[in-house]
Amino acid sequence: MTSAHEPTSARSPRKRLVLPMLAVYLVVSAAIVVGTAYWARDQAETAVRERSDSTLNLVIENLRGELSKFIYMPKLLSSLESIPRVLAAPTDRQSIDILTEELGNIANISGAQAIYLLDDTGHQITSSDGATPQPRGTASSADQPYFREAMQGRLGRHFGVDASTRGRSYFFAHPVRRQTSIAGVVVIRVAMDNLEPLWFSADSEILIVDEDGVVFLSSRPEWRFQTLNPLDTQTRDRLVREGRYAGQALDTLPFTDGPADGIARLQPPPGQSNGRPDTTTGTDFLVHEREMTDSGWRVLILTNALTTQRQVDTAIVAATSVLLIILLIATNIYQRRRRMIERMTIQEAARQQLEVRVLERTQNLTETNTKLRDEIEERHRAESELRTTQAELVQASKMAALGQMAAGLSHELNQPLAAIRSYAENAAAFLDRQRTETAKSNLTGIAELTDRMARIIKNLRTYSRNEQVAARPVRLQQAIHEALNLLEGRLTQSDITVVLDSPDNLPLVLAGDVRLQQVFVNLFTNAIDAMKDTPERSLSIRATSDAGGVQVCVQDTGPGVPAEVLENVFDPFYSTKDVGEGMGLGLSITHGIIRRFGGVITVSNACEGGAIFTVTLPRAELANEAAE
Ligand code: ADP
Repeated sequence: MTSAHEPTSARSPRKRLVLPMLAVYLVVSAAIVVGTAYWARDQAETAVRERSDSTLNLVIENLRGELSKFIYMPKLLSSLESIPRVLAAPTDRQSIDILTEELGNIANISGAQAIYLLDDTGHQITSSDGATPQPRGTASSADQPYFREAMQGRLGRHFGVDASTRGRSYFFAHPVRRQTSIAGVVVIRVAMDNLEPLWFSADSEILIVDEDGVVFLSSRPEWRFQTLNPLDTQTRDRLVREGRYAGQALDTLPFTDGPADGIARLQPPPGQSNGRPDTTTGTDFLVHEREMTDSGWRVLILTNALTTQRQVDTAIVAATSVLLIILLIATNIYQRRRRMIERMTIQEAARQQLEVRVLERTQNLTETNTKLRDEIEERHRAESELRTTQAELVQASKMAALGQMAAGLSHELNQPLAAIRSYAENAAAFLDRQRTETAKSNLTGIAELTDRMARIIKNLRTYSRNEQVAARPVRLQQAIHEALNLLEGRLTQSDITVVLDSPDNLPLVLAGDVRLQQVFVNLFTNAIDAMKDTPERSLSIRATSDAGGVQVCVQDTGPGVPAEVLENVFDPFYSTKDVGEGMGLGLSITHGIIRRFGGVITVSNACEGGAIFTVTLPRAELANEAAE
């Protein structure tokens, strides 16, 4: 069907659209994933920056706090009375001892690592930790920048490593003035080794770098005393001269990029330091730094880029998952829609097929209906024709029977006519002889004979009448008697003994008297015909009644009905008689009449020979009751 192809051709453009749409979706998805990655990186880096900012603040504040505790102390100390005294007499043991004790107490109270006094050449005169004074001319702090700055009349402050302990310290130095010149310097050493453990973090490193680019504080111990960038020779010489890093190699940290604000990549070092695998080598760091203007230091915080990368990865996975889910849902919806369209197409095709079938079936039905109506009309016509024919046949058969009866009838009528003639002749003769009485008796005889003839003629008239009235209660005996009267001539001629056994109180039956008479005329005629060649000729008519109805058995002494004929005797035009003797309609008409009265007729053969026809008719009162 054309309709079945339509949806297929309509679906093709949709199908063709799927691939381009998928391609567009993939491109858009890729763009979304890339965008998400950038956005996630941006977000993560912003978070890291914010975190780093606050960490930097904390570290700087912590450093400042630690150092600011001591910033005014050298100035205060320089105003102690005992210091100018010792500087004036640097060999006065007693004064030195007093000062040493005093400085020790102050160091203990303030938490300073050590406080010492240097003369104007940088030689240490005394120290709070009770170290013996350096003899003049031996190694001194003269080259230390803080000393030089103090000697220039301002507060000297510098970081340095203690040559003996390798401890990292911060030095504050303040000049001790005598009149206009500077006689010595008070130095306070503050330990800085205890700051780093506070900075420990799993994913970031904190570095404090001095103005020369040397990392002097670091949360990673192996990065200490390394430089961010290679040192030039001048700086390196100066640092060695100052002894600030106590002979440390000052290698350069293996950063390939930076580190400056942004990204730093740490290369694996040529040899693993002290055999320990460095878990951070080869990784990227996000670098944030801030300058401490008062000290010239830089504080750097290096956050492992893996932290942000992990967030980026998570965002990519999440975005990809969402896009995949959307793709799955879209695929699912598309497939559902396709299935639905297919289903609808099939249903539509089925509906159209059904419609066509219904149309065909309706057409067939209409045709069949028309045919049926025609057939019914035809049948009605045939039935009415049949009824007319049957009525004509009934009449014809009656006439035929009358014809058969004609011989007997003429005999019947001739006999009384002859008797009337002789009665009349005799009556005339008796009148002539004045024998009026005898003539009268003859005239009475004539009257009786005419009565008899009139009865015969009346019976004939009745029989030949075409009865149209409906069934009504009638006396069965009357019909039997009238039939016998009609056939009296033939019965006498054939020398047949009639035995009639009928109780007086036989109930009325529902029938028509003329038709009932015809029934018995047919049965008796057949019996007379059957006994044509039999020596003993007897016609027995026995009427009985029971609850079911009234039965009449008509039995003859003829040869009976042959077995092969039994089932055909009631068929129309079935006759075993010679042509001209029977039309084969008698029993068929009899059967039809009885059936119309609501009765039945059966045939059987008597054991001793002869046919028995049994007519059963409904009792009139029972039929009336049933009708009521
Ligand atoms: P018809 O008498 O014109 O042949 P019927 O219908 O009256 O037609 O009878 C049909 C046939 O039934 C008869 O030809 C006959 O063979 C058979 N038949 C009817 N009555 C008897 C009977 N009493 N005895 C033997 N045969 C009979």
